[in-house]
Amino acid sequence: MNQEYIEIRRARENNLKDVSLRIPKRKITIFTGVSGSGKSSIVFDTLAAEAQRLLNDNFSLFARKFMPRYPQPQADAIENLNMAVIVDQKRLGGGAHSTLGTVTDISPVLRLLFSRIGQPCIGNENLFSFNDPKGMCPNCNGVGRMAGLDLDVALDKSKSLNEGAILLPEYAVGSYEWTICEHSGYFDLNKKLTDYSKAEIEQLLYSKPCKIEMSVGGKMMNFTYEGIIEKFVRKYIRRDVKSLSERTQKMVAPFITDGPCVLCGGARLSQEALECRINSYNIAELSALEVGRLIGLLREIDDPVAAPIVGALKERLQHLIDIGLDYLTLDRPIDTLSGGESQRVKLVKHLGGSLVDVMYIFDEPSVGLHPRDVYRLGDLLRKLRDKGNTVIVVEHDPDVIRIADHIVDVGPYASSGGGMIVYEGSYEGLLQADTLTGQHLKQALPVKTNVRVPTGKLPIRGAALYNLKDINVDIPTGVITVVSGVAGSGKSTLINRVFMQKYPHAIVIDQSSVGVSTRSIPATYIGIMDDLRKAFAAVNKVNAGLFSFNSKGACEQCQGLGVIFMDLAYLDEVKLPCDVCGGKRFKEEVLGYRLYGRSIADVLAMTVREALDYFDPSHGEIVRKLMAMSDVGLDYLTLGQPLSTLSGGECQRIKLASELHKRGSIYVMDEPTTGLHMSDIEHLLATMNRLVDAGNTVIVIEHNLEIIRRADWIIEMGPEGGNKGGTIVFEGTPDQLLRAEYSLTSQYLVISGQ
Ligand code: ADP
Ligand code: ADP
Ligand code: ZN
Ligand code: ZN
Repeated sequence: MNQEYIEIRRARENNLKDVSLRIPKRKITIFTGVSGSGKSSIVFDTLAAEAQRLLNDNFSLFARKFMPRYPQPQADAIENLNMAVIVDQKRLGGGAHSTLGTVTDISPVLRLLFSRIGQPCIGNENLFSFNDPKGMCPNCNGVGRMAGLDLDVALDKSKSLNEGAILLPEYAVGSYEWTICEHSGYFDLNKKLTDYSKAEIEQLLYSKPCKIEMSVGGKMMNFTYEGIIEKFVRKYIRRDVKSLSERTQKMVAPFITDGPCVLCGGARLSQEALECRINSYNIAELSALEVGRLIGLLREIDDPVAAPIVGALKERLQHLIDIGLDYLTLDRPIDTLSGGESQRVKLVKHLGGSLVDVMYIFDEPSVGLHPRDVYRLGDLLRKLRDKGNTVIVVEHDPDVIRIADHIVDVGPYASSGGGMIVYEGSYEGLLQADTLTGQHLKQALPVKTNVRVPTGKLPIRGAALYNLKDINVDIPTGVITVVSGVAGSGKSTLINRVFMQKYPHAIVIDQSSVGVSTRSIPATYIGIMDDLRKAFAAVNKVNAGLFSFNSKGACEQCQGLGVIFMDLAYLDEVKLPCDVCGGKRFKEEVLGYRLYGRSIADVLAMTVREALDYFDPSHGEIVRKLMAMSDVGLDYLTLGQPLSTLSGGECQRIKLASELHKRGSIYVMDEPTTGLHMSDIEHLLATMNRLVDAGNTVIVIEHNLEIIRRADWIIEMGPEGGNKGGTIVFEGTPDQLLRAEYSLTSQYLVISGQ
């Protein structure tokens, strides 16, 4: 047995056709091939699954009872495996308290630095942690945000108290609360709130409870005046909302706002911790700086006591910068990172770790990266390899494919047309190979010159969210517009946030999952199931309901799921094929009815392409919808595959397929080329062109140069990420972009063959 290779013999997961291959250890191996060709079936369902199973076998039988069970992948042999670490695009976990700093373990080191050299010295490290009761702000419990009274809604400052300046219903003129204000003696009842002094406003809003006397029915009685905000927060916010009556909840809801904590200003820490400083910055201020600036400040610290700690901090920050995340801040909540950003953060965690001889598996790490930053990714993958690890990458980006030591091209086509290795070897060899990947790597299309004339425009004015620098821009209608720019330049903020808020009727076609239930399948999602049932019913002269696995036709054993879930003590739920219908979902008698010689279960087992051959043009509606699936490059999906097994890219394309017949809509797509092979991108472009030719508007956030070349209009954001971005650096046609030397994207368009 050769220890230099991981060896797979005769793998048969999903569509794999007895795939045998050797993957060199301590090298970078990249898997390419059209979507659905079988890359994931090899890398995730075979290699990673087996590594995970072996790992679990190392635990005692007792411990294994508490762990998920991994079935043995379908293969004759998988040998020489290392421990696998999967670096995917799933969002990083963690509660409300998780930030970039905590998940990368940079924040604990920063706290250590403050406990050593911060002035005044308050010692104890825990005091700088918002996760520790001693360090957290007592007002917001370390969350940094708090609900409060929305003064913009609660006050009409152009009025006086007599005119009803306080809009909370309980303060209506003449009410109990209003009368207490009136008799408090603190306020001039006829003065407009805009004319109040700072002290008067303070008194009105924040006054602690104080006793006042007033006469009720001729008798003097004691009452309490309390600032409006103080009282509101005490009555409605500092207690469980659910303990309030439904009526009260409804009443206060419009007045509640979620904002930074008033005590710590969002810094999450106790006042004591915030007073401790290094070179005039407190720990919250340093955590709010972009990583690129933070490292500069650390370089100015020349305290010998701190040198080792500063060194450790700089090394970790440098990793973030190297991977193009210099625009993030340590205090950034982890749940606001994009999928690509999350994956890069995970990569950084592993670079800082000390694991060696591990098999690292990446799923399209180039997602979200501008061509400018892709080379940095290459450097980091090489670093990981040079530490003695085996690096395995599924990738479509030509610039990433180029850095491979070894390439495995899977194909030739998708689904049953794929599942084989069509090329193995070097990049240079791939360029000569007669495979779809080889062909596409060699050809570069010219930029589009016959661009469409816009039918109108959608204006955005004064956009200033996050890093946007108060920008104005028009998005043309009736054309394909690409919004480009380096990661962090503000593309998603401009389109997904600002634009979507102004144009909420725009339809977002994203990669989020489409499976609304475990019963959803492509046939139901694109809406051919009804027609299919009717066709079966008409030919066989029976009730159409029989052909539904959600009702009458369902196998009684599994209720139409095709699988049975078994709960075994201690074990995770186990899914087994139904022993009655064998996974076909239908009752035996239903399967006896045929349409053109096939049962309903046979039809659901067909791929879209097979179904297109099967249905003749008389089934116009079905054929049209199947064509739409084929147009978006999903002809390899089977009609009955659970939607829960679809990848993000496939989800995005199936949504697109179900939109293809609409008119006059605005479509927004965020990196639709994710998961797409160069040949699939042609399908996608054809689809976008069809949408626009039918009178729709398409707006795409993309780095992919093919899409940029073929757009009608390009808006480039930048020039850099974070604070150094947020402006529009270019607006124009692809042809104009080629000549715009100051544009980063332009430089890469030129390099890539124009
Ligand atoms: P790639 O990673 O190259 O896009 P995959 O390995 O995901 O391709 O898929 C190869 C084929 O196997 C496709 O036809 C896909 O639809 C099918 N497939 C993948 N996962 C499943 C599954 N869980 N159940 C049934 N078919 C699957
Ligand atoms: P792009 O889409 O071009 O990669 P983004 O619009 O995601 O860029 O980010 C632009 C800037 O806004 C970056 O500095 C980013 O860190 C910041 N940003 C994005 N989302 C948030 C958020 N939820 N909270 C705070 N800052 C954010
Ligand atoms: Zn606070
Ligand atoms: Zn069954």
